[in-house]
Amino acid sequence: MSATPIGMNAKTAAAVQEIYRPIIRGYFAVFAAYYLIIFPTNFGYYHGADLLVVTACALITSALGIIGYFYLRNPAPPNLVERMLVVLNFLVVSNVVIALNLVFEPTKLSYFVIMVMLFALASVSMRQSTLSIAFATLAFITYVPKLSSEDTVTYGFLVFGAVMASLSITFYLRKAISFIAKAKIDAEGRLEEARIVGDNMRQKSLSDSLTGLPNRRAFFEALRKATGQMKTEREQATLAALPEQSNLWLVLVDLDGFKAVNDVHGHLVGDLLLKEVADRLNNHCKDSAHVSRMGGDEFNIILVSPCEEDQIKDWCDRLLESLAKPYVVEGRHVRVSGSMGCRMMDISEAARPQINEADYALMAAKQQGKNRCVVFNEAHAKVAAERHMVEQALRFADLENELELLFQPQIDLREQKVVRAEALARWTSPMVGSIEPTRFIQVAEEAGLITEITLTVVSKAFRVAKGLSNSVPLAINLSSHDVITDPIIDHIIALAKQFEIDPKVIEFEVTETAMMADLEKATDNLNRLAKLGFSIALDDFGTGYSNFSYLRRLPIRKLKVDRSFLENAGDPMTEKVLFSLAGMARTLGVECLLEGIESEVDLLMAKRVGVDAVQGFLFGRPMTAEALDTFLANYSSDDQPERWSGQAVA
Ligand code: C2E
Ligand code: MG
Ligand code: MG
Repeated sequence: MSATPIGMNAKTAAAVQEIYRPIIRGYFAVFAAYYLIIFPTNFGYYHGADLLVVTACALITSALGIIGYFYLRNPAPPNLVERMLVVLNFLVVSNVVIALNLVFEPTKLSYFVIMVMLFALASVSMRQSTLSIAFATLAFITYVPKLSSEDTVTYGFLVFGAVMASLSITFYLRKAISFIAKAKIDAEGRLEEARIVGDNMRQKSLSDSLTGLPNRRAFFEALRKATGQMKTEREQATLAALPEQSNLWLVLVDLDGFKAVNDVHGHLVGDLLLKEVADRLNNHCKDSAHVSRMGGDEFNIILVSPCEEDQIKDWCDRLLESLAKPYVVEGRHVRVSGSMGCRMMDISEAARPQINEADYALMAAKQQGKNRCVVFNEAHAKVAAERHMVEQALRFADLENELELLFQPQIDLREQKVVRAEALARWTSPMVGSIEPTRFIQVAEEAGLITEITLTVVSKAFRVAKGLSNSVPLAINLSSHDVITDPIIDHIIALAKQFEIDPKVIEFEVTETAMMADLEKATDNLNRLAKLGFSIALDDFGTGYSNFSYLRRLPIRKLKVDRSFLENAGDPMTEKVLFSLAGMARTLGVECLLEGIESEVDLLMAKRVGVDAVQGFLFGRPMTAEALDTFLANYSSDDQPERWSGQAVA
């Protein structure tokens, strides 16, 4: 006997079985109850051996009913259920046959009609139904000789009608139930498909399409999960001390020099490089850490390990070594390195501020020369808190009132006169007091607050340019963000128009690092300003790339050599370097100014190396606009630089 009914696959058969199960259970229960209830009545009808046989048969049937009822609480093998039903039906027929054999009464033949109907209603297969109906019919036929011809016709038609009805009930009921089963299977199939599609979509929404690594969302989920797991672990540890306590480390990785790879070799090479970087990260972390790509060239690693600071640094250093090995992408040899910021996460504290702290460590790694790993520590925490304070104060600053401009003269060495004054911002906050410009400018740049400062400085400087009675061209510093942001440049140009400023009297100072963020955009914007007649000076020259090829492309009129060169003013090597920087300016056809002239010795060297102009405390410290006016008036009466040094105001 095959387990699967003809025309039905195993899945449908199982589903049909499942739909039938409660009906069949009920069927077993009915016979269990029926024979339990009627067996005491046998004592009134039968005696001796007859009673024993009738009672035994009733109890066996009832026992099978009880077994079937309990057995079918759970899905059961279809074959077994089928056999149990055949046996039960056989026992039911036997009960009637025994009763008829003991006391024959034609009216009892109506049991056969009821039986065949019941067998049809509660059958798990056509063959089981047919077999059961066949028992009943055959049993009935054995009694036909005992009937009168009238009863034979009556019961014969009744049983025949019942058999026909039962067979068709079995057939159509099974058909209807298989239809329902198929619909159920179909619905379950669709549900499963929807679940798989959902899972796939979820998987996609959690992974980075380029590298296949988990993405930013997945990172936050993984971090939440790791934190949750560790919390549970710690709770358990208080009950039974764990041998080693794990730490949760967050490592932020940012590639050094990736932008240059994109610029020089194109985005395809950049993309392939990122994939290779992802592979190296995965290889290093294996299954011990969760690596994700946050976007661009930023990757995050979550590491749960008993590592302490020294060990995590070793682990990161090995990863740095791996990242810094040359890459061959599309046949090109490419080199990048990584900078890393680590933070041991305190799982009882909020994650966000700690991620920012890891980011702070990463920034420190970049500032300390890249290709290194910095672990966030107490000292960083102090600086970060201070930085946060400055940032908060900046956010609520009334810049128009709190920001002041001082001006520092620039002297042309040949003409020995003040040719320009550089506007330098000073900020005194009612919340945090006076903050050094390098500090608040950096915080403003990082916090995205520089635009307002720049525009305040520019409009204040323009107002001064218009208000000075001894007029002098001014220089204004622009930050990196300004140079690469079109709307800021638009705004500056609009302000110049509003104040009716002659562009010839304004110079904008930009640094090399500022332009490196987006050299193309910076070049475009500087060209826009230069075309209008503004002069452009390259500030802090010599501390950055000093790359000849891009310098030639920029509309620069002046190189301002950084004052750090004067720290070793007596060193012949310094003089040689300054000499070549001045030569470089001459070759480019631009003016050269040396910053930070503090003494006569510095001034003499400036003259010897051949710079065109100087700026420094020797001539004047940054001073107020009024002081600058007086300074300019005095200059016209006396051109000896030695006298100017005594007139510093700020
Ligand atoms: P910078 O543009 O290179 O400005 C020159 C800095 O050198 C000024 O510092 C000036 O006071 C200082 N300095 C000039 N001569 C001497 C000297 O003989 N000896 C020494 N030790 N220092 C001298 P300050 O005013 O503190 O500004 C520092 C930096 O902050 C500036 O460097 C500039 O990068 C930035 N900064 C200042 N104001 C602004 C501004 O309005 N906008 C932007 N974006 N940056 C500004
Ligand atoms: Mg400057
Ligand atoms: Mg400078």
